[in-house]
Amino acid sequence: RHVTLRSDDVTTLFDINLDDMLGGGRFGDVHKCTEKATGLQLVAKVIKIQDPKDKEMALNEVDVMNQLHHQNLIQMFDALETSSSIILFLEYVEGGELFERIIDENYTLTEMDAMVFVRQICEGISYMHRMYVLHLDLKPENIVCVSQTGHMVKIIDFGLARRYKPREKLRISFGTPEFLAPEVVNFDCVSFPTDMWSLGVITYMMLSGLSPFLGDNDTETMNNVLSSEVDFNEEPFENVSDEAKEFISNLLIRDKSGRLSAGQCLRHPWLNDLAEKAKRCNRLLKSQIELRKYMMRRRWKRNFIAVTAANRFKKISSSTSLATLEM
Ligand code: ATP
Repeated sequence: RHVTLRSDDVTTLFDINLDDMLGGGRFGDVHKCTEKATGLQLVAKVIKIQDPKDKEMALNEVDVMNQLHHQNLIQMFDALETSSSIILFLEYVEGGELFERIIDENYTLTEMDAMVFVRQICEGISYMHRMYVLHLDLKPENIVCVSQTGHMVKIIDFGLARRYKPREKLRISFGTPEFLAPEVVNFDCVSFPTDMWSLGVITYMMLSGLSPFLGDNDTETMNNVLSSEVDFNEEPFENVSDEAKEFISNLLIRDKSGRLSAGQCLRHPWLNDLAEKAKRCNRLLKSQIELRKYMMRRRWKRNFIAVTAANRFKKISSSTSLATLEM
């Protein structure tokens, strides 16, 4: 259904569970919530509006989500405006981030599983692109599982998504360089293939547990992205099929016109005849071990950033006067 932003009272319509925070994003927090009239479990994405730019971005997110109705894209149910924020009410999925699921001790990952996941991500992207929308922030943490045991996945976070504008360039002001396409690093025009690059990175990581362009620092990572050289010589690729490697090689191409489109991906041999392959594609991937290490490092980095930011703030507020801060 089409959602129009309204200013009705949030508390009469929804019960937002402020203690249950599913995630904290760039612009606000994501909480579990219930629609009072129906008892429906939803997610409230609270976007704080501090200046007109924030509002413009939130309205863009509403606008984009209104155009997207597909089983592999998270759905929006409602959107409310309060004095300080815009709250998006989204479909709730309980399975958590796909990569967290993959690294679970009790989970075993085969290439067949990867095909099932990647195919669904492609279905979502293909639909989005047919609707002329670019996601522009596809990365592992924006792929979530519907349930804790099933294999259905959905794409979330349309905060940077927008209608395709042929001459649009995207400036990188935040985000993790390891997932950026060369044209984004170069501040060149972004387009449908920009999302396809990201799909290549996600697939590479799922199959090997390695982040293909990650360097020791951001500059090195961005140089690696620009050189766009991928190799499949690392040990975790030993169990990966040639078809899969060929699929990835056709996405991680520096020149965006050379990359497969989402439609072409869906027709690629790697993502087809899954039922037939299911009979023989049961080799376990070695990527899980590497992926575990990657996720541990990511958690550590996030905590480190959070702790240093908090300490810096403490230091500033205890030893500096506001006047100095404002200088
Ligand atoms: P970021 O800065 O990470 O891009 P954001 O402010 O754009 O974040 P989202 O990425 O949409 O916000 O959500 C933040 C986190 O909340 C997600 O990584 C995910 O863990 C959780 N989350 C978001 N939407 C849902 C949902 N519909 N169901 C369950 N969890 C969700």
